[in-house]
Amino acid sequence: MTLLTQFVEGLDSGRVKIVDLTQPLGPETPVIGLPPQFGASPGVTMEVISKFDDKGPGWYWNVIHMGEHTGTHFDAPIHWITGKDLPDNRCDTLPVRRFVGPACVIDVSREVAANEDFLLMPAHVAAWEKEHGKIPTGAWVLLRTDWSKRTDAASFLNVKADGPHSPGFHQTTSELLAKDRDVTGVGVETVGTDAGQAGTFTPPFPNHTIMHGAGKLGLASLRNLDQLPATGAVVIAAPLKIVNGSGSPLRVLAIVES
Ligand code: MN
Repeated sequence: MTLLTQFVEGLDSGRVKIVDLTQPLGPETPVIGLPPQFGASPGVTMEVISKFDDKGPGWYWNVIHMGEHTGTHFDAPIHWITGKDLPDNRCDTLPVRRFVGPACVIDVSREVAANEDFLLMPAHVAAWEKEHGKIPTGAWVLLRTDWSKRTDAASFLNVKADGPHSPGFHQTTSELLAKDRDVTGVGVETVGTDAGQAGTFTPPFPNHTIMHGAGKLGLASLRNLDQLPATGAVVIAAPLKIVNGSGSPLRVLAIVES
C-alpha cells in the first residue's frame, strides 16, 4: 500500500480526520481597524449576479468584495516592508510546498483568560518543547488562545479607549521561531498575528516585522485549535494565487490522526 492509499483509507475509516480551522466568511466577518490616518480594509460585501432569475434563469452566483486580509486569512512576506524585496514573497510566487507542514499547537488559553494582552515568551516555547519536543523546521506554530470563542465582533476585536487588546508574541519569541527554529510561519485565533497593542511596541508590530522579514508566513483568525493535538497534525494553508497578492482569505485545514 502506498502512503496516499493508506491516507485515503484512513479518511474512509475515520482514523484520519479533517479539522476546519476557518471562520465563516461574510458581511458579519470582523475586520481589523487601524488609526484613521491609515487606509482601512473594508468588510465583506456580496452582490448577487443572478439567482435563478432573468439575469441567470438556471444559475446562482455572486460578486465578492473585501480586503486581502479579511476573516481567516494568509499573510505573505510581501505584506510587510521588511519582506517586500525577498524572492518568492507573494501569493502567486510562494512555493506551494510551504503551504503544508506539521502543526505545533501551543495552548495558552488559560494565560489569556487571565490576561488579554498576554504575550508568548521564549520561556513558554521552552516549556512546550520540554514536554513535546523541539519545534521542527517548517512547522506551523499555532497559538491556541481560545480567542475565537469570542464570536461577536466587539469582543473579538476588543477595542478600548487606548486601542485593541488581544494576545500575541513577544518580539524575542518571533525571533526565536523565525530564525532559530526556522518555522514556516505562525497562526493565531485573533484578527492579526500581532498582539492588539503591538502598534505601540518598539518596533511596532514586531511579529509582522520579524516574521515577514525572515520570509515567514502568517495565518490569522483561525478557529478550532482546541480540536488539535499539541503535535501530530498537518496543516494545509494555501492562499488564492492572487498576482502580486499580499495575502488572501483561505480555507485552512488540519489533518489529524485519531
Ligand atoms: Mn493579515
